[in-house]
Amino acid sequence: MEGTYWDRVETIQRDGLKKLQLKRLNKTFERAKKSRFYRDRLPETINSLDALKDIPFTTKSDLRSSFPNGMLSVPQEEIIRLHSSSGTTGRATVIYHTRSDIDSWADLVARSMYMTGVRKSDVFQNMMGYGLFTGGLGLHYGSERLGALTIPASSGNSIRQIRLMKEFNSTVIHITPSYALHLYILFQEECIDPVSDLHLRIAFLGAEPYSEETRKRIESLYGLDAFNSYGLSEMNGPGVAFECPVKEGMHVWEDSYILEVVDPETGDLLSDGEEGEIVLTTLKREGMPVIRYRTGDIASVFPGECPCGRTHRRISRIKGRTDDMLIIKGVNLYPMQIEKILMDIPEVGNNYLIEIEKIDYLDSINIKVEVRPEIFHGDIIELENLKKRIVEDLKNEILIHPRITLVEPNSLPRSEGKAVRVVDNRSK
Ligand code: ADP
Ligand code: ZN
Repeated sequence: MEGTYWDRVETIQRDGLKKLQLKRLNKTFERAKKSRFYRDRLPETINSLDALKDIPFTTKSDLRSSFPNGMLSVPQEEIIRLHSSSGTTGRATVIYHTRSDIDSWADLVARSMYMTGVRKSDVFQNMMGYGLFTGGLGLHYGSERLGALTIPASSGNSIRQIRLMKEFNSTVIHITPSYALHLYILFQEECIDPVSDLHLRIAFLGAEPYSEETRKRIESLYGLDAFNSYGLSEMNGPGVAFECPVKEGMHVWEDSYILEVVDPETGDLLSDGEEGEIVLTTLKREGMPVIRYRTGDIASVFPGECPCGRTHRRISRIKGRTDDMLIIKGVNLYPMQIEKILMDIPEVGNNYLIEIEKIDYLDSINIKVEVRPEIFHGDIIELENLKKRIVEDLKNEILIHPRITLVEPNSLPRSEGKAVRVVDNRSK
């Protein structure tokens, strides 16, 4: 009989896990101190995990200023791959991997996939971009390690994606939530019902924030189980935290990462249950260890044990990055709070865009919302009522009064990678 766990470490007792973490952390310090960046920033060893809080954070700007080799901890001939972020919001960053790093990463991804129920007999269509972005290759190697038939479809080319799903009976997909919603529109145009005409049973959704309502919508449109997948290139990529079948938070693989949550303003440690910024430390990385990395991602740790038996702590859905937070008329707001409301209204279509501008020196927010085709072309009074309902629901949640423009399905700009949800014209 097949086991429930991929690796015994998934259920290790917490005190054993902490001992393992301390041992690996000290080894990580030893390795990291070989790099220019960490040479003088780290002690030789620490005696307890509590002492980690006195070690300085590493930030995105540290990664940028040490570009390209300042954090490299091994001779370059030991490196077999690099991944680099696009640098859309500044200079690029680079992460280096040794053979053993790539190996450990594949193990974590295989473990994550197995946890959701993927097995050798599955056909896995990987619809994330292959290349410098980690979403494609990250899942690819994990899936091969697990032994599933892996289709390196990469992102985009929707008609081919649909064809591949049909021709090879794909059972598992990896896709951004925004693209999954968009793709469904094409299924409708092709007169294919993913629920009855395909064999999909599992989806991994990640790379961008999305709400529980969006997950539920994707599950029902495609007739599958969708699991949240979290990762970032600085920590490898996907495979840092993943949902188990309980679907209450994502287990962070604490044998490979130390998880901390800090107050984004002060950097002070927060307790389980408190919302703050996720800080991560690699525990197995050889090529380029990263210590106390400020991810910018806002979430909280679920207190208590998971009924699945895994002992690694779980984090909530990521609310957004610290820099996604909008301040509108003095009110703090994450785009996710808006998405949550929109996706809970059945008449609302699968895409939206938040536009912010200054009108007479005041912030003004206009949300363009795609509507389902039958509603858009239907009764005008119903459309007006829908608009009122959206305004009302949003006012209750975000406490400001947005303008709503209902637009035709499939009319808003979309990206095949991470969705752009907000256009802020205030600084222009
Ligand atoms: P970039 O920084 O260029 O976007 P990455 O591919 O490393 O490159 O992106 C990682 C980031 O993507 C995370 O820090 C987080 O903000 C976001 N992300 C990844 N997975 C999820 C997820 N499941 N939910 C919400 N956000 C996610
Ligand atoms: Zn669990």
